[in-house]
Amino acid sequence: MKPKEGRLQSGEHIMTRFIQNKISDITVRIAKFFDDYGEIELLSSQDLREMDINGLNLEVNNIIGRDMDVNIKIYDRGEMENVEDLRIPEGTQNVRIVSIGDFDSRPCGDPHVKNTSEIGKFIVDKIKRVGKDRYRFTFHVEDK
Ligand SMILES: [Zn+2]
Repeated sequence: MKPKEGRLQSGEHIMTRFIQNKISDITVRIAKFFDDYGEIELLSSQDLREMDINGLNLEVNNIIGRDMDVNIKIYDRGEMENVEDLRIPEGTQNVRIVSIGDFDSRPCGDPHVKNTSEIGKFIVDKIKRVGKDRYRFTFHVEDK
């Protein structure tokens, strides 16, 4: 595991949920995590470059500051079929659900922190258009 991956992952879940709550027309594409930063690509018919990055960072860090517990549960796929809004990968029998307080739940197999207080400061650095209706968010974390 990369040293910051759990922090980057957990912050990304919160950021993405925050954007999805604000803009209904969002489809999550691929997320990638590197040693010092992460990227996620979101599809939207809205021009996401128009988002106020400072405002986004402020609100995401306010949510992180609620010091929410992160819980991981493994479900059988059949148990999850009626749950809306979860992106369950095709062909998997067990679904690992990462829940951040009551703010977000989504399937993810990667490492996360145990409490959002471990994330530190989460910072979106840029939002770039990388294709039709496709936007890449680049972000990193800092110690508080
Ligand atoms: Zn994750």
